[in-house]
Amino acid sequence: MMDYDLIVVGAGAGGAPVAARASEDPRIRVLLIESGPDYPNVEALPEDLRNVNHGSFFDHDWKLRYQPSATSRTSLFARGRVTGGSSAVNTAIALRGYPADYDEWAGRGLPSWSWEKVLPYFIRLETDLDRDDPWHGKSGPVPIRRHPRDELVPFQAAFLDACAELGYPATDDHNAPDSQGAGPHPMNKRGTLRISTAIAYLAPARDRPNLTILPDTDVARVIVENGVATGVEVRARDGRTQTITARQVVLSCGAIHTPAVLVRSGIGPKSVLEKLGVAETKILEGVGRNLMDHPAIAPTVIPKAGVADWDQPVIQTTMYYTTPGGDFNDMQLEPLSFMHIKTDAPILMGLAACVFKSYSRGELRFESADVDARPQLYMNYFSDERDLVKIKDGIRRAMEILSTRAIAAVSDGIARPTANELDDADHIDAWIRRNSGTGAHPACTAMMGAADDPMAVCDDHARVRGITNLRIADASLMPVVPRVNTNIPTIMIGERVSDWVKQDLA
Ligand SMILES: Cc1cc2nc3c(=O)[nH]c(=O)nc-3n(C[C@H](O)[C@H](O)[C@H](O)COP(=O)(O)OP(=O)(O)OC[C@H]3O[C@@H](n4cnc5c(N)ncnc54)[C@H](O)[C@@H]3O)c2cc1C
Repeated sequence: MMDYDLIVVGAGAGGAPVAARASEDPRIRVLLIESGPDYPNVEALPEDLRNVNHGSFFDHDWKLRYQPSATSRTSLFARGRVTGGSSAVNTAIALRGYPADYDEWAGRGLPSWSWEKVLPYFIRLETDLDRDDPWHGKSGPVPIRRHPRDELVPFQAAFLDACAELGYPATDDHNAPDSQGAGPHPMNKRGTLRISTAIAYLAPARDRPNLTILPDTDVARVIVENGVATGVEVRARDGRTQTITARQVVLSCGAIHTPAVLVRSGIGPKSVLEKLGVAETKILEGVGRNLMDHPAIAPTVIPKAGVADWDQPVIQTTMYYTTPGGDFNDMQLEPLSFMHIKTDAPILMGLAACVFKSYSRGELRFESADVDARPQLYMNYFSDERDLVKIKDGIRRAMEILSTRAIAAVSDGIARPTANELDDADHIDAWIRRNSGTGAHPACTAMMGAADDPMAVCDDHARVRGITNLRIADASLMPVVPRVNTNIPTIMIGERVSDWVKQDLA
């Protein structure tokens, strides 16, 4: 007799939906294990998790570090450590991606992930409060709305006016399958309350007798016996270790920690297991490799007096466009009402140019198999020349937008880049490589792929290759990062995988 039917490891954007959906069936006994704390209701939430106007970067964070490109310095890389995971600390941008994103997944030998196959899960996860189109949902756990014009703060409203001034099309739904242009972001928030997966999925499920949430507990490794996952080894905050058994295990620790748990379990590249002295369970060369993200850089803008303050929503609008000769909607230009982290320095606004259809791939590096060790993130941004071409186009257009009449009405000029930083091609390249940072969307480090793909860690149904009863449901599963912010796509993955888990356990 196993302790549980299902263990889900990690209560973030992918894991919380799996646990909540599986526990809808009262016969399935579910254990959801989370490394961070659990706040049982909205009233108990600390301010950094409650107020979406600011990202939460410190109080519920993993303290990871990353190196954007070979020539840049390392810096902090935020990841949520709490029930809700990074969905509990993020900005609540709620984009799905485009048919081309998921048809590209299907084209890599993953027929279950075409646009036609994933659309029902995007519909199932949301209640769109603004739109009635057939591609929107009206009864899902995640509420989504867009700021109407009268709620836009001055810089955000000026950005939409500037885009119109330059002839970019307007859109009132960035989640329409063929949407292009400038308009309000769909967002999963109510007022200033960020709707994490802890609120959307766990709050309605947590009183079920067949769902147990175990916070403040690290999963050290998956236990695999004769090629079958039979449970996990955990370590509580007081240091006590324990083995918990289950018929199925789903790893949802995110794109950084799922590979770390796999490696500690003896599942990973041969050279990594040998270096760390971990006994081999299954060699899968893709674990920790193929790391994708959306590199971004933001020219900064001096606000006119009274235009900006730290209590405004940091993000309300965005613009998608296609670079010349590039991929559909490959760039996002996004106005920031203030540059993210509050300091004593004078407040600056920003206009981020983000490469959303990116190609460069980096990797995680592991120095130890200790449960407290953190992988190092080597993002390798711009190792693929196409990403550099796109971001340069984005910076040029961002500077054009910042020179419009609409922006002049709210700004006292551009702070960075300086004229000198943009005066020749070499200076621009150097400025980009030195100053670009993460879009906060790491993915693909335990990706699914066809049987003949040497980097495939999982199959089409999210099963870890060569291990029975072990699945992955988080951003690491993505074969290619979609050209959108990754929270809603990861929730979709959780929804999709939960159906397979329920079928297997029925
Ligand atoms: C600051 C910030 C802003 C962002 N803004 C947006 C946005 O506005 N819109 C958007 O779409 N996306 C945004 N993102 C990205 C989005 O939140 C992530 O893509 C998404 O949460 C990824 O989901 P996941 O399930 O892969 O990982 P996570 O949501 O990070 O969940 C992983 C969970 O696993 C837990 N865990 C890890 N290791 C272990 C272990 N060994 N044992 C037990 N538990 C473990 C973690 O604590 C965490 O709770 C942002 C991210 C950050 C950090």
